[in-house]
Order: sequence, then C-alpha cells, then structure tokens
Amino acid sequence: MSNQNFRSILTGSFSTPCADNPTVAMIEAAYRHAGIDARYINCDVKVAHLAAAVKGAVAMEWAGFNCSLPHKVAVIEYLDELAEAARIIGAVNCVTIRDGRLVGDNTDGKGFLASLRDVVDPAGRTVFMLGAGGAARAIAVELGLAGAAHITVVNRDAAKAETIAALVRDNTGSDATGCPWSGKARVPEGTDIVINATSVGLGDAQAMPEIDLDTLAKGQVVADVIPNPPMTCLLREARARGCTPLDGLGMLVNQGVIGVALWLGKTLDAGVMTQALRDIFGASDA
Ligand code: NDP
Repeated sequence: MSNQNFRSILTGSFSTPCADNPTVAMIEAAYRHAGIDARYINCDVKVAHLAAAVKGAVAMEWAGFNCSLPHKVAVIEYLDELAEAARIIGAVNCVTIRDGRLVGDNTDGKGFLASLRDVVDPAGRTVFMLGAGGAARAIAVELGLAGAAHITVVNRDAAKAETIAALVRDNTGSDATGCPWSGKARVPEGTDIVINATSVGLGDAQAMPEIDLDTLAKGQVVADVIPNPPMTCLLREARARGCTPLDGLGMLVNQGVIGVALWLGKTLDAGVMTQALRDIFGASDA
C-alpha cells in the first residue's frame, strides 16, 4: 500500500460559454505555488444542466465552485443558505459546499472592495459610479455595507440606476441616488471615488466612457472594473490628471483569493495570480 494521496481537492466554475474565462489559469497557478493539491475545473454548463452540475459537485464532494453567466441568479434555488451580500444583491457567483450544504456568496463586490481598500477606505466617502449592471449592483451593495456616505449611480437606462440606489438605501446604512446618463457625465464636486462599472473598455484600450474628464479632481481615486486591458483609457486619463488609478485586475484576483479562502480556508498568493493574468492578457502598466 502506498502512503501517497492521489485524491485532489476539487473546485471549479460553471458557466457557458466558458472557454475565454481565464480564472482557471489564475487559480491553478496559485494552487501550484502554495503546494496545494487542488484542481480548478472550468466547466461549460448549459442552462438546462445547471441542476445536474450542482448535484454532481455535491456527489463528487467538490469544495466549492464559481458560477458565472448565465447561472448567477438561477443557482440560488439549489442552495441551502445565502450570505448577506448575496441575498441583497440577488445573485451568487461563489458556492461553498460543506458537509453537503451549499452556501452562496457574491464575490464581485467583495473583490472590488478588497482592491479599493489598498488605496482608500470607502467608509464615509462619496462615490460616483457609472453603470448599473451586475458588477455595479454588487459593488454598490458592498460599498453600502462598508459605510460609504453616498453613492450616485449613473446609467443610460435610468430605471436600473434607481433600482440599485433603492437597494442600497433599503439594505445598508448608506444614502444613494440613481441618475440618467445622457451626454458627458459630470463628476460632482466633493466626490472621493469614481468607478467605471460599465463594460466600456473591455478588450479596447482606446474606448472611453462618456465622461467630462475636466470634472475629475486631483487626489480622487478612479477605479475601473475592466480587467483586460487593465490600464484603460479612463485610468490613463485619470492618472494624467493626478488621480489615483485602480484597475479591474485587482478585483478579479481578489475574487479568486476570497473564493479559495471560503472553500479551503487558505489564503492564496495574490501576486502569483496577478502575474498569471498579466501573462495571459499580455498586460503592462503603460
Ligand atoms: P452588465 O451587462 O450587467 O452591465 C453592463 C453595464 O454597462 C450596463 O450598466 C450598461 O448600461 C453599461 N454599458 C454598456 N455599454 C455602454 C456604453 N456604451 N455606454 C454607457 N454604458 C454602457 O455587465 P456586468 O455588470 O456583469 O459587467 C460589466 C463589466 O464589468 C464587464 O466588462 C465585465 O468584464 C466587468 N467585470 C469585471 C469583474 C472583475 O473582476 N474585474 C467582475 C465582473 C464584471 P445600460 O444598462 O444602459 O445598457
């Protein structure tokens, strides 16, 4: 009989399509670096097979899995419990399996906040956020739970902006306002943190959200959710104006760190994960 252990811990992701999701490369690089015998399996799970996939993960005693589009809301009906933020947001992208029980969390906003806290504590701060999609919703709720003073949500579809603002007002101690976005958005005076939570800039280093750059103020933190390319046009312009830029790569890496901490109780090396993504994206700081 061998004393060796040939059984790896299993984690992974359920989404469709899944082939362009680099999370597996990021997390497995960090597993290897930490000497953890765990795998992260990137699974293409079609809508009709979500229930079977979840059941399979339980049957195979996976430690947990991420859920990406289009399963973030649909997965909830298969879970036993929801963390507070996931309940408020109404979407789950990280499921932990413990003793056969499934607990849903949402790491989108938590990953952003962990990254943000490297440069500023959001407590008591005034935030101006562009976009009102899934990422914006998660970020706004976490900012509210972290004690931001006021969040302005700006979106082309103003009803979506107001829905998020109401979610923040009703479930956190923060105040929030939803506003329509027409023409160039102007950042109000006194804003501490500006966030681009739209998809503008994804895969296009020259794309720029419609914003009046002259309303950015020196010393402000300007954050982008776009992970690739990390140094977006908005961040380059903000840096040139004396703002502190914060890229979306950190949000992605921190989501990996938080997910694995929930599943395995271990903290992975964020530097190794960042490098893995930079290698994939061919990213520089320029
Ligand atoms: P959604 O599709 O849910 O939302 C997209 C948002 O972008 C909407 O508010 C939409 O406005 C807005 N938008 C799109 N195009 C434009 C435009 N030309 N001008 C103004 N607004 C625009 O996407 P998600 O919220 O899930 O994702 C948004 C971005 O965040 C994606 O690029 C994604 O890659 C990134 N992301 C990054 C993560 C990370 O870890 N770094 C994690 C999750 C997401 P409207 O409602 O008016 O259409």
